[in-house]
Amino acid sequence: MAYQTINPTTNVLVKTWPGHTDEQVEAALSAAHRLYQSPWSQGAIAPRLRVLHKLADLLESRVEELARIITLEMGKLIGESRGEIQVVAQIARYYAEHAERFLAPVSLPTGQGEAWIEHHAIGVLLAVEPWNFPFYQLMRVLAPNLAAGNPVVAKHASIVPHCASVFEQLVTEAGAPQGAWTNLFITADQVGKLIADQRVQGVAMTGSEGAGSALAAQAGKYLKKSTLEMGGNDVFVVLEDSDIDKAVEAGTFSRLHVGGQECIGAKRFVVRAEVADTFLDKFTAAFKAVRIGDPLDETTTLGPLSSTAARDSLASQVRAAVSHGATLHHGGNAIDRPGNFFEPTILTNVQRDNPAYFEEFFGPVAQVYVVNTDDEIVELANDSHYGLSGVIFSRDIARARTLASRIETGAVWINTFSSTAPELPFGGVKRSGYGRELSELGIKEFVNQKLVLVATS
Ligand code: NAP
Repeated sequence: MAYQTINPTTNVLVKTWPGHTDEQVEAALSAAHRLYQSPWSQGAIAPRLRVLHKLADLLESRVEELARIITLEMGKLIGESRGEIQVVAQIARYYAEHAERFLAPVSLPTGQGEAWIEHHAIGVLLAVEPWNFPFYQLMRVLAPNLAAGNPVVAKHASIVPHCASVFEQLVTEAGAPQGAWTNLFITADQVGKLIADQRVQGVAMTGSEGAGSALAAQAGKYLKKSTLEMGGNDVFVVLEDSDIDKAVEAGTFSRLHVGGQECIGAKRFVVRAEVADTFLDKFTAAFKAVRIGDPLDETTTLGPLSSTAARDSLASQVRAAVSHGATLHHGGNAIDRPGNFFEPTILTNVQRDNPAYFEEFFGPVAQVYVVNTDDEIVELANDSHYGLSGVIFSRDIARARTLASRIETGAVWINTFSSTAPELPFGGVKRSGYGRELSELGIKEFVNQKLVLVATS
């Protein structure tokens, strides 16, 4: 697929970016591998952490400019883009401040002698990333691995080449040596060749199930470690004792954030029957109050989807859901205007034999389910191919905690929407993938946790 910047608000083609040739890919991989073998990767951590500090400073000083690039390329609201750059700076700063402690040797009590675990870089990694958080996704891989000493070659989504290119420039400007982070505009075939290359030691992939499965299969074939951050079909549980207004506010935010194109966005609203009518009325009113328009306009609350293909595939998912018996409670259509706009939509009466029941809707489409018991909540929540995150609203924290423990996901958030922070691990179970990014867990994914033991004489 061609790497192109197309403004999703107008569908005007802004720029086509040339792909990298096999020779350029080889040069990038050689440089990355040389860097891995050099004192930069093998030596003291301090110079690498200085780059992360500088990168955080750069990002913080250029929020407005970078936010505009995101919004013009993939269509999220300008305020959301600013928020993304701020979190991205926080991630760089977090690893700059904590990586040395995370990677310090850990001694192990044993009767065999003196034993400890050291943490070493393992080599060049390949990152394959999606467009919905075009800077954040890259930083989740860069920051821990730059600190650890793993050089990264990165293939970003073909609809965000401007973001990919600017990110690479920022890393260089922060003082990273050649090879520390290399952006590559490459095809799936070239990705496959990189995975097969013996200099590549791991694959960090975020995206859809189909792509994740293809890449993990290739990584498995060549015995390369991989982490997979896939989609989700997160539940948003509203118990009868909830603060309903707060739940509606959080649920609306979560479902419509980034135009509904967020892996941890609330997708299945599971509401106790006692409060179902009240919740649905208020939730529908909130969807009706959405202001659709130009994502650069500060008053807009819902922008376009990232591409025409994304809008059309969402429209066909909604049509299929309705033809299989779901009720279209609100919205349901692409909007007849330039750009990739789609109405905020609510589906009810989605039965288990409806394809919509198991699908991720990557856009502003909510499904509302009504349940009578807490056991039903758990059954519905876990009757999913995915297991990324989930939300529970209740004033009874003990009850919410019990439910949280029973839900099969990588995270559960109580009385707020699912979100992210550098110190909190991110990842899922089931078809949402495996491995974790961010936090101390994230930096341990691609390091050699090496045991050294000095025998008792
Ligand atoms: P996607 O189609 O899988 O694309 C993701 C990346 O994979 C892109 O760079 C894409 O390149 C590349 N790709 C696709 N097929 C490939 C193949 N056969 N070989 C090599 N590379 C391949 O995903 P998307 O639809 O853009 O992104 C949305 C999905 O990502 C949703 O399911 C969402 O839930 C998930 N997501 C998960 C997380 C998480 O942390 N769990 C975070 C964000 C998004 P091209 O653009 O060139 O096709």
